[in-house]
Amino acid sequence: MKAICWYGKQDVRVETVPDPQILNPRDAIIRVTSTAICGSDLHLYNNVIPSMQAGDILGHEFMGEVVEVGQKVENLSVGDRVVVPFTIACGNCFFCQKKLWSLCDNSNPNASTAAKMYGYSGSGLFGYSHMFGGYAGGQAEYVRVPFADVGPMKIGEQVSDEHALFLSDILPTGYMAAENANINEGDTVAVWGCGPVGQFAIQSAWWFGASRVIAIDQVEQRLTMARDHGNAETINFDEVDVSAALNEMTGGMGPDCCIDAVGLEAHGTSPDAIYDRVKQATYLGTDRIHALRQAIYCCRKGGTVSIPGVYGGFLDKMPFGAAFGKGLKMAMGQTHVHNYLQPLLDRITGNGHASTGSDGDQAPHDQSTSANRNNRGFDPTYIISHRLPLSEAPDAYRMFNESKGECTKVVLQN
Ligand SMILES: [Zn+2]
Ligand SMILES: [Zn+2]
Repeated sequence: MKAICWYGKQDVRVETVPDPQILNPRDAIIRVTSTAICGSDLHLYNNVIPSMQAGDILGHEFMGEVVEVGQKVENLSVGDRVVVPFTIACGNCFFCQKKLWSLCDNSNPNASTAAKMYGYSGSGLFGYSHMFGGYAGGQAEYVRVPFADVGPMKIGEQVSDEHALFLSDILPTGYMAAENANINEGDTVAVWGCGPVGQFAIQSAWWFGASRVIAIDQVEQRLTMARDHGNAETINFDEVDVSAALNEMTGGMGPDCCIDAVGLEAHGTSPDAIYDRVKQATYLGTDRIHALRQAIYCCRKGGTVSIPGVYGGFLDKMPFGAAFGKGLKMAMGQTHVHNYLQPLLDRITGNGHASTGSDGDQAPHDQSTSANRNNRGFDPTYIISHRLPLSEAPDAYRMFNESKGECTKVVLQN
């Protein structure tokens, strides 16, 4: 089969590799129909996540058709259309029983590597380095899905690939970011980073009852999307001082809830951001954390900082004193995708959730995006900027990495 393989910094190739096979009775083989490139795939592309090996198959956002199931997979049949969570979970361990799926104790065969660095390992992840299990990813024609009796969710024929695909990661990730932000009715929510996760965090903040959502980025196209589809007020950090602007917009209080949807490759022009870039370039530091510092600094006293952005290592000049002094709450981590599959599919199909139709029974502060204003359900496809065949993935990675804003989300189709 054809697969997108990693060979080093900014070097991904279309390769012919052996087809995946059932290795365990709980496996399924999926023929991938749609897969997406994630912002966090660019961390791999730029080689800032350790333990990648030449030839690793990329991709953790995918969906497709079941073509083979192991003997113990009773919930799926050949021919089912499914979307697959990027976090791999066994369903049986202490953490899975507590629905902390991304912390599964049994799905990372290389747990000892992660444990050396982190104390304990999280779950295995598709296509995301050997530290997270070394699983072949879904940017391929076929993929082996372990614990297929637990993760994949069936999708009805009435839901298109493009509507369902983002349930694999970014829609649940944006949603959990808003959930983790402890949003109360009437709160002001600030979101750093208006990539796809930031866009979905903005949307989700309204669902949780925010009265204002403020989006922060430097890319004008992304800010426009946040305004047009997310009803957000926007701050361009290239043009204005973010903390002064937030202070003024919130009557000197600061936002109640701050969401860092940027992660470890934050851009910025302030002294601390330049310092991070130098340290990362000289291998003296691992993470560029300017957005996180700013979120902590700007958050109101007693507020919450929610961190869906990915961090990998040891964070330098972390303003922990500010976080402590202001009594902030913080929440973070990989998304427990499994929890959100059905509720968010229901949002998309309009099943069981009033959207912003004319029936008037939505929550008083539910300012859903323009994308779903005229439909019953939430349409997440507005973030897609490019649809390309799988074979053009190397160009797609390059374009996404070099994008100044024209590329928000690439969907690769088989
Ligand atoms: Zn992703
Ligand atoms: Zn488990």
